[in-house]
Amino acid sequence: MAAMIPRAPRLTACHDCDLLLRLPPAGEARAAIRCPRCGAALYEQGTDAPSTSCALLLAGVVAFAIANCYPVLMLEVAGNRNAATLWQTALALHGQNMPEVALLVLFTGIVMPALALCSMLYLQLPLLLGKAPPGFAVIMRLYGMARPWCMVEVFLLGVLVSLVKLVHLANVHPGIGLWAFFGLIVLMTASAVRFRPYRLWERYQACAATE
Ligand SMILES: [Zn+2]
Repeated sequence: MAAMIPRAPRLTACHDCDLLLRLPPAGEARAAIRCPRCGAALYEQGTDAPSTSCALLLAGVVAFAIANCYPVLMLEVAGNRNAATLWQTALALHGQNMPEVALLVLFTGIVMPALALCSMLYLQLPLLLGKAPPGFAVIMRLYGMARPWCMVEVFLLGVLVSLVKLVHLANVHPGIGLWAFFGLIVLMTASAVRFRPYRLWERYQACAATE
């Protein structure tokens, strides 16, 4: 005899203070829900357009590709011109017996932004086309792990500080890669501001239910 399984309440944890809260039933219309303990916004109705998020992410991929293919800085000392991409910088650091710094540059400047962009596109693009991407929960977790390590802003601040210090020693020209990194920061920030995990989950559940 099949037992009646009570429907599990919709629970959510506040992303700021971890307070576990019960969400109102799916059909109940609410404009916004705030955490009663810390006031963080937990739910806002209809503020995101999936197509805009995908457009921002695709533009981010283009900016990321340019940032990694073109030199970030160009140095000119005594007639010798030297230009280096981020990847070449990491290799040079490794060659200068600084493997830890090389790994950090590689990790925060290339690997993690790539992982964050790819995981977000993998999650959002199929949902925009009405398909539920396989391994949704795993990739959501992966994005949560990659996001704090995606420190393009910090990396760029480091580049600007060294640029100011090098100005007295050599002719320093910012490369196309550096401008592309600026663009990437703006695009990734705009995408992160629009990121609402619960909206993605809702759309995923709706797509999975129709398949
Ligand atoms: Zn809270």
